[in-house]
Amino acid sequence: MTKELKHYINGQWVESSAPNKLDIINPATREVIAKAPNAPKDVTVEAIKVARRTFESGIWSDQSPQERAAVLLQIADVIEENIDELRDLEVENNGKTKREAQSDAEEAASTFRYYAGLLNMPNGQTYEAPGDMQTLIVKEPMGVAGLIVPWNFPLLMSVWKIAPALAAGNSILLKPAEITPMTAVKLFELMDQTDLPKGVANLVLGSGSIVGQTIAESHDVDVVSFTGSTGVGRLIMQAATGNMKKVSLELGGKSPNIIFDDADLETAVDYALFGIFMGSGQVCSSGSRILVQEGIYDKFVEKYVEKAKGIRVGHGNDERSQMGAIVSEKHFESILNYIEIGKEEGANLALGGNRVVRDGLEKGFFIEPTVFTHVTSDMRIVREEIFGPVVAIQKFTDEEEAVKIANDTEYGLAGAVFSTDQNKALRVIKRVRAGITWVNAYHLTNIQAPWGGYKQSGIGRSLSTYGLDEYQETKQININLAPEPVRWFD
Ligand code: NAD
Repeated sequence: MTKELKHYINGQWVESSAPNKLDIINPATREVIAKAPNAPKDVTVEAIKVARRTFESGIWSDQSPQERAAVLLQIADVIEENIDELRDLEVENNGKTKREAQSDAEEAASTFRYYAGLLNMPNGQTYEAPGDMQTLIVKEPMGVAGLIVPWNFPLLMSVWKIAPALAAGNSILLKPAEITPMTAVKLFELMDQTDLPKGVANLVLGSGSIVGQTIAESHDVDVVSFTGSTGVGRLIMQAATGNMKKVSLELGGKSPNIIFDDADLETAVDYALFGIFMGSGQVCSSGSRILVQEGIYDKFVEKYVEKAKGIRVGHGNDERSQMGAIVSEKHFESILNYIEIGKEEGANLALGGNRVVRDGLEKGFFIEPTVFTHVTSDMRIVREEIFGPVVAIQKFTDEEEAVKIANDTEYGLAGAVFSTDQNKALRVIKRVRAGITWVNAYHLTNIQAPWGGYKQSGIGRSLSTYGLDEYQETKQININLAPEPVRWFD
């Protein structure tokens, strides 16, 4: 039987009275796996009120950091105990491979553990000021955090927000992407088994234009943390002006991967494949623009295409699959349309370009690894985020030109440099205007490092201590250690 999903508000699973349910689809088979409610505005407002009330009550925000850490560790434990189910739900709903979903679920548990650990670390600052004044700088929760996440890492993006927001003592309302709610619902079922007080964490399922917009404009929400497209990020910023709520945005990218003549070719080819085809290219930090120096351009392209040809596209639950499905029919059509645009613009289609219909994949949304070469900076396939398994390989002559092309984008999320000359590599990566970068690697990051972009790739940072800051206010407390009148008006 198809599962009927519910909202989770004030510690209760709430059935939707509205008849219009959204079909939740497995993108590898087009089967309906669940029905989800599409919350109207009043349900969202009610969930925000619950979060507000819970925050004001102090039931969570007044607990000591150690008590909050203990609950975060319980959440990490229940995630770990249910890791197979979380992984399989993600595969079924998002279309990614088992290996990718396993890694997401493991990182979800680690993220809760990391923030639990951070709560036991020294924090704050103290100063001694003139006139026997002692100043304490302390961090406090913001209040109610509205968390809006995309479909590409449904579990992990939720956790990247929930863990620091709860660690800081906030009450939260999570809105998953409407097409991928399965793992978020499971996560809330698991959190329900812990000592997290009821009403602190709430979940509302539904559309961006109603649920998301209501969160962004609510005067009862103090911080909105959003991951998604740059276009929607702009709408969130506008909606947030009503009560000047804090805004944290993780947005799109069109990230350059620069490969110099002196790079270790084998390593560069390998990471350049991983950089774009992991997650079928539906990763915000994907290395979707490969810039290759002219001396090795032909050799690189030949080796790259050869290897890309061998990537096994298939059902995420098939252990042999290396690249899974595209998340939805709409997105699948959008990627295929970009491939047509690339051809019309005169780029050379060196590999792929089609949907995959072999071996029982004809029902699902599968696209071949696609490689365009001999592209120029003005082409739409080079400028716009395609968010699929489509890469553009561009030629450059020298260091100066590499940096110029790399930065010729409105985005600034990620970037990489491959070279055996460490001085040159560091020199160049420092000039790339992006927040997440690598030398001789791609995609490898850790929870301790801040995640976020320059330019139109966002505002603020996730993960690390910086990620905790996004959900905290900073207060100065000035203490007069020798109280006596100031006599300003004497
Ligand atoms: P999207 O912007 O369409 O949707 C993201 C979320 O916003 C969804 O939950 C959606 O329902 C909601 N939303 C839509 N309209 C809204 C509105 N008017 N007000 C409030 N909320 C609204 O993005 P997507 O298609 O789900 O995800 C893909 C995008 O996310 C890509 O651009 C990708 O680069 C970006 N992304 C960025 C990061 C990062 O860390 N920088 C990580 C993952 C994805």
